[in-house]
Parts: sequence; C-alpha cells; structure tokens
Amino acid sequence: MVLGDGGFRYLMEEGVYYSNAHYQHANTETIVGHVSLATGTVPAAHGMVANVWFDREQDRLVYNIEDSNYHLLTAGADVDRKTEIDPTQKAARVEGRSPNNILTSTLSDEMAIHFAGRSKIFAVSVKDRGAVSMAGHTGKAFWFSKASGAFVTSTYYYDRYPDWVSEWNGREPASSYAGKSWELMQPSSTYLFGGADDREYETDLAGFGKVFPHAYGESDDKYFTTKLTLSPAGDELTLDFAKTLLDEEQLGQDEVPDYLAISFSSNDYVGHLFGASSLEIEDNLARLDRTLADLFAYVDEKVGLANTLIVLSADHGQPEAPGYLQALGIDKAHYFDTDALDKTPAIAALKKQFGIGEELIKEYFHPYIYLNRDLIREKGLDQSLVEKAVAAELKKFNGVADAVSSTALRTASLPDTPLMRSILRNFHPNRSGDIFLVFEPDVFINDFDGLVVASTHGSPWRYDTFVPVIFAGAGLPAAKINRPVTPYDIASTLAAYLKIKPPSGATGTPLAEVFVE
Ligand SMILES: [Zn+2]
Repeated sequence: MVLGDGGFRYLMEEGVYYSNAHYQHANTETIVGHVSLATGTVPAAHGMVANVWFDREQDRLVYNIEDSNYHLLTAGADVDRKTEIDPTQKAARVEGRSPNNILTSTLSDEMAIHFAGRSKIFAVSVKDRGAVSMAGHTGKAFWFSKASGAFVTSTYYYDRYPDWVSEWNGREPASSYAGKSWELMQPSSTYLFGGADDREYETDLAGFGKVFPHAYGESDDKYFTTKLTLSPAGDELTLDFAKTLLDEEQLGQDEVPDYLAISFSSNDYVGHLFGASSLEIEDNLARLDRTLADLFAYVDEKVGLANTLIVLSADHGQPEAPGYLQALGIDKAHYFDTDALDKTPAIAALKKQFGIGEELIKEYFHPYIYLNRDLIREKGLDQSLVEKAVAAELKKFNGVADAVSSTALRTASLPDTPLMRSILRNFHPNRSGDIFLVFEPDVFINDFDGLVVASTHGSPWRYDTFVPVIFAGAGLPAAKINRPVTPYDIASTLAAYLKIKPPSGATGTPLAEVFVE
C-alpha cells in the first residue's frame, strides 16, 4: 500500500510529528480517549471512565453520553436494538444525548469563554460519542445514525436542524453506496497483506464477508448502514458532511478562531472486525489517507492551511488479533470469556465461604466488575474485605494480569507501578466499579452478546496507549520529535497557542515546538 501526497505524508513530513505519544490511563476506550483529548486530562478528573458504567443510583448500566433530557432531533434515529452490533452503543437505554456527564471543561469550552461565544465550534463523527465529546459543552455535535442513515443531533444543540443539514440529509448520500462493494484501492500486490486476505479469525458480519470485495448490500438490507460504518464509506460520508459544514457555517472566515473536530471512526471498526494487521486495515488507511488529503485541500482552498492549525491524534491504539500473533509463534495470545465469572469454581467457593447463595458479581462491563453491594451489606460483610477476596481469586485466572479493588485504590495501599498509576488515573469514586480487571498483554474479550470480533482495545498495554500526535499547518516548521509526550498535552498546547486559559482539569504540558513565540 502506498501513501499519496497531501494526506498522512503531509502531516508526517511537514508537520510537528510526535512519534512517542502514549495515554497514561488504563481503560483505552473510545469515550475515555476522546474526552481526554478534548479536556487535556485523565478520566479520574473528567469522569468518563468507560464507554459504559454501572450507575448505582439508577441501578443499571448507563451509556457514557446518554441523557433523557435531550432527545434526538430525528424521530426513530436512536439506537435500533435489533440491528445494533456495537456492544457499547447497544448499552444505551435512553433516547437522548448530551455532554453533561463530562465533568471538566474542554478546549472548545475555553474558546467559547475566552472569545465570548464568538468562536464557531463543531464536531462531527460517525459515532455519537466521537462527536459529543469533542464538541464539549459549548459546541455543536453531529453524528451518523445507523437507524436513519443520516447525520443527526439532539435538542441539547438545536431546536431544529440548520437548513443545510436537512438539505444534506435530504440528498441521502448514504444510499449512493447501495449495491456497491468496498474494493481494494490499489493493486493487491502493493499491499503488505495482499496475499493474506482470508483468515479464519476475521469477522464475517451478515454477508459483508472476510475477503474483498466486501458487499454493502442494497439499501433495505438490515445491516446496510452498519456496513458503511465498518468500511471507508463511514469516513467518506463524515468527510462530505464536514466539508459542507465548513462551508455553510463559514468556518475560518473572520479574526475569531473557530474549532472543527472530525473523528474518523472507520479505522476502529475495521480493526475490530479484521485485526490491526489485515488487508482491510491496510486498504482503509490508504483510503483514509485520500480522505485526509481531500479534507486538507478543501481547507486550503476555503481558509488556507497557513491560517489553520491541524492536529491529528487518536482515542486509542489497536491490538493485534490473537490468531495473527499465534501464526507468528506468540502462543499465549488468546481470548478471555467473562461470561459466568460469578459461577466459576473459584468464585463459587468464595461465595460459599461468605455464606452467599445469590449472585455476588452483579455486573461485568469492561473494565470493571461491580459487586452486589446490597447483598454484601445485608449479610453483614465488609465491602473492602469482599472486594479484596474476589480480586485475589480473579488474579489466579489464566490470562488475568491483575485485579485491583477500588478500596485499595482509595486507600492507596498499592505498589507504585506504571500499571497501578494508570488504573488510579482511571478511577472516579462514583463511576468506577469495585474491581478493575486487567488482562495480560494479547489477551482480551472478543465475544459480545454473540457478536464475535477479531480484536478489542481497552487495555493499559502499549499497543493500546500508543497514538500519533501531529500538529501541522499554520506555518509550523517541520519537526520529528521522539521525546515522550501524552495526548493530554494537546489541549494545553492549543490553549497556550491561543493564549487562553487551559481547560479546568487539564494536566498536560504545552508542547514547546508548537507554541513558541
Ligand atoms: Zn473500538
């Protein structure tokens, strides 16, 4: 696969490229990473500790940005539980979205405050959580609804759609993919994995197939819009919507700085289905490279790249599929089954010891285990003792690297290791579960309610924390920096660059190569 001009190569060769950037929190999931980018701080401060957490007051799992006070502007555009395959998205039981669960301010909020509401602030993504996070509390977010095949928003942002959004959706751009397929962009011999398309561990979702070409199906296919998100089509639609937004909302046309966040999510979904080292990921990146080149050329034409500071990063890294590693001789890579944790012999024996017949492990939703606190109280048991006992048993499971109780985190009775620090940075007392379960490197869950995928990120290990951080445009001189930096530094850097105060919880360090006078 060959990169073209004007996309990734423009960023890497002409931008300030930090090649050694890592997150420092333990749960490397979508909302956690996006909000860390937006706020410049860790989940312990911004509060978005996981894509889904158990809300003890409501006694149910909640989806990170669900908010029943702000319903979607399009009726029937919310998650369709019959066809939703994203296990995180499926957890949303409430129709409505807002950023109200984000506890600290975002860079975009600080721009709104500093420039007295005159900055235009927008965020776009295929995923609702990819847009709501980056828009912050003050911006406007649009995301792709698989149920309606259109870009939508909620009443948090608008009472009615801007005309240009209705017009864009009215053209039904998604339907142009009907009956078509995702095909290789370049001759297969140019790809590293050109001869390795068909592998048994890849996911075959509803006729999408494991090999090229991947057919989208007709527009009445139950999974048609889902398949668009699992391919470069999702990014292409996002690009088209973002270009229209940039033009219609007149971004970058006056002296007040504006903000546009675009989260291209196809790379994530394609990685889940086919693994990081796959022909699909290779082609998706080749196409994302063209998508970026198209975006930058458009920005150059409308605003000028000299007047635009571009930042590229990611919400998390991407792990290899165990099957790929095993083929290379890394035998320990495997999947872990978290179903029926409560019924495993070790936990069953522990429950017997405590005199508990009912379910002790109330819920597991990555990365936390939630114990039945009411039951523990009823039995007159000590919560911290039960937590520690369950954690001690879980640590013995094959594939478990550690199980860390929240009591241990609260009382700081832990060894001071990089892993413990990353779990502590992820800890919020009201949202984190009772035990943080850490799998060994190259071990992860792949079965979500019957949907079996090739790989899943979300670990504290380097392949999941490793992301690009690149600044480009705005007359920045090219530089390649190997010094360790973090994605939390981005918001602090942009605040310093704009000479405004950093977001309320920001812990990052302004990167000197970008904001020097
Ligand atoms: Zn993902």
